Amino acid sequence: MYKPTLDYAQQQDKEDKLAHLRAQFHIPKDPKGNDWLYFTGNSLGLQPKQTQQYIQQELDDWAKYGVEGHFEARNPWMPYHEFLTNSMAKIVGAKPLEVVVMNTLTTNLHLLMVSFYQPTKAKYKIVIESDAFPSDRYAVQSQLKFHGFDTEEGLIEWKPREGEELLRIEDLEKVVDEQGDEIALLLIGGVNYYTGQYLDIKRIAEIGHAKNCMVGIDLAHGAGNISPKLHDSGVDFAAWCTYKYLNSGPGSLGGLFVHEKHAHNKDLPRFAGWWNHNKETRFNMRQPFDVMEGGEGWQLSNPPILSMAAIRASLDMFEEEGMEALRAKSEKLTGYFEYLINQIDTDRIKIITPSNPKERGCQLSIQVKNADKSLHKKLTENNIITDWREPDVIRCAPVPMYNSFEDVYRMVEILKTLL
Ligand SMILES: *Cc1c(COP(=O)(O)O)cnc(C)c1O
Repeated sequence: MYKPTLDYAQQQDKEDKLAHLRAQFHIPKDPKGNDWLYFTGNSLGLQPKQTQQYIQQELDDWAKYGVEGHFEARNPWMPYHEFLTNSMAKIVGAKPLEVVVMNTLTTNLHLLMVSFYQPTKAKYKIVIESDAFPSDRYAVQSQLKFHGFDTEEGLIEWKPREGEELLRIEDLEKVVDEQGDEIALLLIGGVNYYTGQYLDIKRIAEIGHAKNCMVGIDLAHGAGNISPKLHDSGVDFAAWCTYKYLNSGPGSLGGLFVHEKHAHNKDLPRFAGWWNHNKETRFNMRQPFDVMEGGEGWQLSNPPILSMAAIRASLDMFEEEGMEALRAKSEKLTGYFEYLINQIDTDRIKIITPSNPKERGCQLSIQVKNADKSLHKKLTENNIITDWREPDVIRCAPVPMYNSFEDVYRMVEILKTLL
């Protein structure tokens, strides 16, 4: 059904009901004013034009009201994080009670491990993917060390088989089956940052829980990309950032999920601050600590409003379009990208991302035999912004909110000539 022509790509853009969204973003341009072909929304999403106005409003209210803005601002700062909860919960398939926007991703992983990584002498090991994002690896290593365990012994890697790139769920099952009595926690990237593989998080939860292990999911590459159904999956906790597919700006605040089954457990070990203390008596200031229920019970500090304003600007766009429509376009757009790459007449290229659309988000990781970073440089010189991963992989993410079929077509045309 796909066709490898510019006409066809342009026709798809004409028929695309989400095509109007592109004009609602700032698309970076070269010095001559040509749009970049931006394929790194998996690293830093582009800026929605309305973000400026959302942040400006809070700056104006700060100027106008000072501290009174906590109550008097058009969007009062005191409950501001609550304005984000419903839309964020929808994006990750959670109940509002389970979700809060706070801190940044790695910080949140640590706070969650304070509660959900409770090792004993016998049951202390942590399972991660062998290709886990470095920050996640460092985080779990430091947790092992903090609890007095050896990081080599304590860390178990779920690896692809010899000669393969992707993970097989049955291999995780085997690891947990055999070593589950020693495993305290599975911390897995729901969508692997390197291969783009979308793992079956419900199965992962079942496998972990069968051996009484806690199960946490890093959704950095999932939130705003795929529709993960966190609540139904049964995982214990999850965390993600909002600057990748959620277009909320560099270093913006992250999201946290704690499953409802833990929402009312006030005995869970956790760190405390005034922001996870009962909001009814928070400003009484003389009360003993009384932890809030649900995801809010992991907050520590009063949060940065300017960052949350940017998140709100973005979530309002997701709310308006709905993940379902975005996901439908995404499957088509990435499918077209895959089709065009497979049309290139060369044996140098291999897509390592799963070919089944249900097992991936929008990203394709393209392995180029005998290539080095100069290929990435040449792509950049041609206005194509991609991400290079050593030794030979280009990661490209056509994002349904702002990438077009024409972007994808032009990208592959240029890649062809560079090969
Ligand atoms: C992007 C990313 C991070 C980054 O963590 P920060 O704390 O937000 O800097 C961590 N883990 C994964 C899997 C990521 O993709």
